[in-house]
Amino acid sequence: MDFIESYRRAGKIACSVRELAKNKDYIGTTLYEICEQIEKQIRENGGSPAFPVNVSLNEIAAHYTAEPDDQKIVEEGDVLKIDIGVQVDGYIADTAVTISYNNEYHSLVKASENALKEALKVARNRAKSSDIGKAIENSIIKSGYIPIKNLSGHSLERYTIHAGKSIPNINSFGSFLLESGQAYAIEPFVTLKEGIGIVYEGKVANIFAIISRKPTRDKEMDSFLNDIWNRYRSLPFALRWVIDNYDEKNARFMLDNLKKKKNIHAYPTLVEGNKMMVAQSEHTIIPHETFTEVITRCDTS
Ligand code: MN
Ligand code: MN
Repeated sequence: MDFIESYRRAGKIACSVRELAKNKDYIGTTLYEICEQIEKQIRENGGSPAFPVNVSLNEIAAHYTAEPDDQKIVEEGDVLKIDIGVQVDGYIADTAVTISYNNEYHSLVKASENALKEALKVARNRAKSSDIGKAIENSIIKSGYIPIKNLSGHSLERYTIHAGKSIPNINSFGSFLLESGQAYAIEPFVTLKEGIGIVYEGKVANIFAIISRKPTRDKEMDSFLNDIWNRYRSLPFALRWVIDNYDEKNARFMLDNLKKKKNIHAYPTLVEGNKMMVAQSEHTIIPHETFTEVITRCDTS
């Protein structure tokens, strides 16, 4: 199959599960149930999760996924970001939606959606990445909010989510031109004026990825590392995804050790500097010579 076709299939699945999630009322549901449900839907639709579903609440901008026994419940007043990755044959569709259960923050969510819309108007073959950042920043400021400066969209490659090129959320220096046939994720993050507009690393880091397959001199850990490689390659994974084959306590222990040995990287949660609410919207696009495909957009969105 043509790689563009794989992107399209991944995008279609990502879109349909995102829209299902968006229309659900998650109040009273645990983060564990949300992640497991969405990941199951991805598989039932013929894709694989490209990373553990991110369910980041309120001032957490990104990179939180449910723990194996995560009993944290979505409550009235919460702002929930659901970030979904689907891969087909390694080709990744990356998309996110924010659901506000707080009247005060509906317009914050709207601001991230509008910023994404404005970005998609200028994102095309040979567009300057800084012009996309400018469109995002202007739109957010006009809405009365501020962008998160140190989070950005990114180019995507087969089995690689952050493939080296960044699509900024502000008018920034160091621009490049978008290329046809290349996939990019565009993802404005928005916070309140009272925020700093910068995220810092939080204490929790529960999304992992292999960064080196160098043997550890421990047979059990080497085989653990090998198993993970065979299942997820260098794509991110969660503890939830490995305890089908390993005892949870032992898996935690091995992950800790592999982190220390620098075989595995743990992605910390990213938290707004002033602990202000954050909203995010994300689509994946592929520019072509004469038109641009938004692969994570289905008819209804
Ligand atoms: Mn994403
Ligand atoms: Mn992304």
